[in-house]
Amino acid sequence: MKRRTLLKFAAGGALGAGLLPWWRQREDVPASRPAPASLVATPPPASPPAKATRPDRAERIRRFDEDLPGDVTLPAGRWPVFLATLARLERVRDLVGHGHFALLGFDAMLRHARGHASVGAFPPDELAFMEEIFALDARRLGFEGPRVLPRLTATIPVAETVKVPGTGNYLYRDISLALYRRLRRDVGESLILTSGIRGIVKQMHLFLAKTRRTGGNLSRAARSLAPPGHSYHGIGDFDVGKAGFGRANFTARFAETEEFRRLRQLGYVRIRYPENNTTGVRYEPWHVRVVSA
Ligand SMILES: [Zn+2]
Repeated sequence: MKRRTLLKFAAGGALGAGLLPWWRQREDVPASRPAPASLVATPPPASPPAKATRPDRAERIRRFDEDLPGDVTLPAGRWPVFLATLARLERVRDLVGHGHFALLGFDAMLRHARGHASVGAFPPDELAFMEEIFALDARRLGFEGPRVLPRLTATIPVAETVKVPGTGNYLYRDISLALYRRLRRDVGESLILTSGIRGIVKQMHLFLAKTRRTGGNLSRAARSLAPPGHSYHGIGDFDVGKAGFGRANFTARFAETEEFRRLRQLGYVRIRYPENNTTGVRYEPWHVRVVSA
């Protein structure tokens, strides 16, 4: 199968050595000039100064939505295939609907694309691009969380999910729904589900859409969205918000709401990405940790 061949190529090729051909570090950091030769022998500096300009993790989190020295960006030459891939993913989403798109597996997505002229089959360069994105070592982007779905073709066990009425989102029946119901009972009906299960395809789309908004800065995208395969939304976590709060539910302003205050008082709720977390992800007061992985 052609796609498998591409995947094999990607895994065994330059990616394996962490040398993606299209990787580019931001170059707006002046390289340190070599010191002029001295007649007097001096000991070498204790540590190389070159990396000192990359902000540390705490500063990267604080300035999560800025372009920072050391960020990895998509070079100009990759923009055509990037935009074409993103547009085709959005045609698949429009075809199957937002709800189904969240649960869609990679192979099913390819079948939908092939079977509908309104979408069109993914050509080899777009498949290779998605495989490259999936195979990226997220730590190169500053994302230090684990890979939770190891394969691009991982599927969501749809029979174990349930659509939560009025939200358009799905949760795992066993591990997530009971917690969500308990939260609403304890906090109130103004606490709502804002994002539930997200499979590989949905996360791929979100990550690429975010990368488009950051002007191709993959590191900046990864500071506020897990790269595909690294999102706990695939295995049970979910996001909550305040009814009527809209997009502000996905900003630090959610932490100022009465809903969040009550959430924190419950004692049994854990936030996946607290302030000063060690994963390189911004503070996400809305993301409820369900799985302990
Ligand atoms: Zn989340």
